[in-house]
Amino acid sequence: MNDTNKAKACLQKIVDLFKSGNIPKALAVATIPPQKGIPSGKWSISNRILQFLSDTSDARGFRQWEQAGRNIKKGAKALYILGPRSRIVKETDGNDQEIEKTIVTGFYAIPVFRAEDTDGKPLPYDPVSPPPLADVAEQFGLSVSYQAFASNYYGYYHGDSKRIVLATHEAQVFFHELAHAAHHKIAGSLKGGQMPDQEIIAELTAATLASMYCSEVNIGFSYEYVKAYSEKSKKSIDRACLVVINTVGQVLDKILNTHLLVKEEVA
Ligand SMILES: [Zn+2]
Repeated sequence: MNDTNKAKACLQKIVDLFKSGNIPKALAVATIPPQKGIPSGKWSISNRILQFLSDTSDARGFRQWEQAGRNIKKGAKALYILGPRSRIVKETDGNDQEIEKTIVTGFYAIPVFRAEDTDGKPLPYDPVSPPPLADVAEQFGLSVSYQAFASNYYGYYHGDSKRIVLATHEAQVFFHELAHAAHHKIAGSLKGGQMPDQEIIAELTAATLASMYCSEVNIGFSYEYVKAYSEKSKKSIDRACLVVINTVGQVLDKILNTHLLVKEEVA
């Protein structure tokens, strides 16, 4: 059986399992913890909020990136954090003793760059090895980067900037975002936001790929995810799967054929 037929058989098994409702409990997704050892680990709360708003968990100055063995990509824009401008003043205390005091007289902007806009040596929170099918993301022209979990998403795919950002090393989450990218290529465009159909397509693809490429599949997680979006679109879970199953097949073909093509090029 070739890979695409194997994929269809796996997909059917998953949909049948969903229909039966006899699903193992969802396992917690192991996320990348906050990084204390990086410069922004020591920043003020307000600077960390500025960093968060710029959609990164690791921003550093030009020299700091240089020291980490990474280069800032061409065209990358800096974001600015605030550093206190201070002055030392002499005062006399109650006992007529002269004391030195540091007072903050204002703030100045410090340019820093997002880890996502750099390349070079691996970052401390990068995975030891890239996930399976990373070659497909590369073939699609996508960058894949990792950041610490910030409690709002495990990963996302952004079509305009051609990137996948992940807050976990679990391959199933990468597969979900890769599926969005492949679906985007097939459909020509995706609707913004988390549309139920698109999410169900991505998660069914992810569960199928995980059952082919990973030793462990978090089938409970996929089930909860698909169930939540089925309810949002006011469909039963098997109905919701049925209406997208052909598209899931196309998305799987797109990913597996691209992978095959890369393998042949290498061979
Ligand atoms: Zn999604």
